[in-house]
Amino acid sequence: MRRAYRIYAVGIVQGVGFRPYVKILADRLGLGGYVKNLGGGEVEIYLEGDKADEFLKALQKERPPAIALEELRVEPAEHLGLSEFRILASETAKKKPSMVPPDMAICDECLREVLETGGERRRGYLFNSCSFCGPRFAIIERLPYDRENTSWAAFPLCEDCAGEYNSPEVGGARRYFYQGISCRRDGPRVRLLDVKGGEIFVYDPVREAAKLIDGGHIVAVKGVGGYHVMALATEDSVVAELRRRKRRPQQPFAVMALDLGTARRLVYIDEEAARLLKSPQRPIVLLPKRGESPVSPLVSPGLDMEGVFLPYTALQYLLLSQTRDKFVIATSGNTHGEPMCHTLKCVLERLADVVDYVLEHDLGIVHRVDDSVVRFTEGEPVMLRRGRGYAPAWIRMRRRLRRPAVAFGGDLQTAGAVGVEDKAVLTQYIGDLDSFETYEYLDIELRWFATTYGIKEPALVCDLNPAYRSVKLCKEWAEELGAEVYQVQHHHAHALAAAADIGVDEPFVAVSIDGVGYGEDGQAWGGEVLFVEGAKYERTWHFTYVPMPGGDLAAHRPARMTISYLTACCRDEGLIWQMTRYLPGDAKEVELILKEVKTPRIYTSSIGRFLDSVSVLLGVAHERTYEGEPAMKLEAAARGGSLLEVNAEDQVELFAELVEHLKRGASTSDIAYTAQTMAGVLLGEKACETAESKGMRRILVSGGAAVNTYIIRGIKQKAEDCGVSVGLPKKIPPGDGGLALGQLYYLTYV
Ligand SMILES: [Zn+2]
Ligand SMILES: [Zn+2]
Repeated sequence: MRRAYRIYAVGIVQGVGFRPYVKILADRLGLGGYVKNLGGGEVEIYLEGDKADEFLKALQKERPPAIALEELRVEPAEHLGLSEFRILASETAKKKPSMVPPDMAICDECLREVLETGGERRRGYLFNSCSFCGPRFAIIERLPYDRENTSWAAFPLCEDCAGEYNSPEVGGARRYFYQGISCRRDGPRVRLLDVKGGEIFVYDPVREAAKLIDGGHIVAVKGVGGYHVMALATEDSVVAELRRRKRRPQQPFAVMALDLGTARRLVYIDEEAARLLKSPQRPIVLLPKRGESPVSPLVSPGLDMEGVFLPYTALQYLLLSQTRDKFVIATSGNTHGEPMCHTLKCVLERLADVVDYVLEHDLGIVHRVDDSVVRFTEGEPVMLRRGRGYAPAWIRMRRRLRRPAVAFGGDLQTAGAVGVEDKAVLTQYIGDLDSFETYEYLDIELRWFATTYGIKEPALVCDLNPAYRSVKLCKEWAEELGAEVYQVQHHHAHALAAAADIGVDEPFVAVSIDGVGYGEDGQAWGGEVLFVEGAKYERTWHFTYVPMPGGDLAAHRPARMTISYLTACCRDEGLIWQMTRYLPGDAKEVELILKEVKTPRIYTSSIGRFLDSVSVLLGVAHERTYEGEPAMKLEAAARGGSLLEVNAEDQVELFAELVEHLKRGASTSDIAYTAQTMAGVLLGEKACETAESKGMRRILVSGGAAVNTYIIRGIKQKAEDCGVSVGLPKKIPPGDGGLALGQLYYLTYV
């Protein structure tokens, strides 16, 4: 029976080998027709022939893993009488921008070629990739994704590669039409350099780099979106030296392990975690440490989880397979507060004091892309950092923007975004804007995205905080473009980000919790229950205001908050004086704080500051050397704890009861567990009350603290009791890395 169909496929369908795959499948089944890029992430397939139904089945089943189809629409069609199947060039693709494809980890087939089957041209080839894998966003100068628009342009094809590229019979689905096609003969070269940039001539630079790492040296290794700093993870002295050189006393380092088997020796990996670790996105996944793990405790001090990931290039595989341990520290090649290096110039200028050698290659990096980070919260994967593998895939919103827009996100661990119609395109993870380089990086990437998506006369949207650098950048753009600026309250934007992520278009109750966001009243918010109706919201409940001595300084010196809480709840002079030993200053600082908690200039309702205070009270963390440190350590300390009896109406009363339990000799883990779970219970209770009074059945939770297992557990318990559902963002980080999505979603309502 000769049938004809027209198929519309929507999703990541460009730059991932979709059209060549479709052609080869159609050829195999002897079908006539065409495949055409419609732009806007949409591909049209027309096909006719006896085996058209088989094609549809195969398309569902055999599709290569990187191709994420959001939608597949099949319509019966008129016969056009086509006997051959062709890939058609498309006019409309130029008008409607395509999705910039994210970077993908090397696929199993390519790895097999590198390790054994690749023959003379691909065995041991360090840059092996195909239609279904390899770098994309990191190396793209401009759309469309054609070789001359990428870093591959510098590498003219050899005859054999050209043969594979031009013919489906020779190239197969993986190499026919593949823009990044290359082999040992024509691909990039690897060199080993000293920190002055001088080449060290060795037969095999990768093997030599592995030997250097084994010898205790620290080596910068060029990857896909930037440089890693690699070092032995098993030697305390090496890890301590790396910490000293990076000026990073406590912040955890990620560990790259050769394969799942190796990773299983370090951390516990269940099925879901294994799937994530092996996915084409290949993120760093935070997983529970094994007691007998050979990793030095200095790699992630005070935490119960290790950040582990698997290699995603042939170079990384071959490097790791030649090291002694088969796993190494692989942390971003940056210095304190600055973005990761993605050029050799940067490495030689900024990392010369951090690393001893550089493993360099000559495939240029256009976009700096950090590794993505995922963790599990109450058993569900949550994104902490959205970079390589995920960005810049767009997120489809339930609502459309009336005009194109640019969103500037927040200031810490942030990302920006551009929006067109119903698509929100978040930039890759940018970082903290307090260094000039990071600020510039956000500006550069936003400009690139705006150009790439043809955005003209955009609406601009940013936070409300007058001190934010992202707001400053937004206003600079406004002046340059004469554009209108919208400002969205931080926690309102967090709530809307969750709504956009989940696809909620009705009013809802939000629990919006984090370290700090600028409130409408000028105070530092962060433990908020909101009732959100699009561009409007009502703050129905919040954590009780407590003084924040020294403003921002209280976040950096968490003992200040402990003293503030102790003053607010218990007036226990003895305990207050005990806490002063965690302050870096002298008696004067203490005096100043005591004065300021009585006549405060600024108050906070932040859950982050509450967690900080408990963390210091318990001696779990004394200082904050990286964002979220006391809260993360408090979460680690709660493992194995159980719930103590408390009966509190707000977090100040809760703090008072925790102090009482401490005095009665309760264990650190029980108090840590109770503090976090009950903070969640409080929020859940108040969110339920709002839901009831407004007739809502749904609570959305977001903000940086929405990744905490115990808080989420507490909220969910209460929500279950009162019969409402709880939703959390999945595609974006709940913290400031996802804020820009909420800012864009806001604009769909105004
Ligand atoms: Zn491949
Ligand atoms: Zn070649």
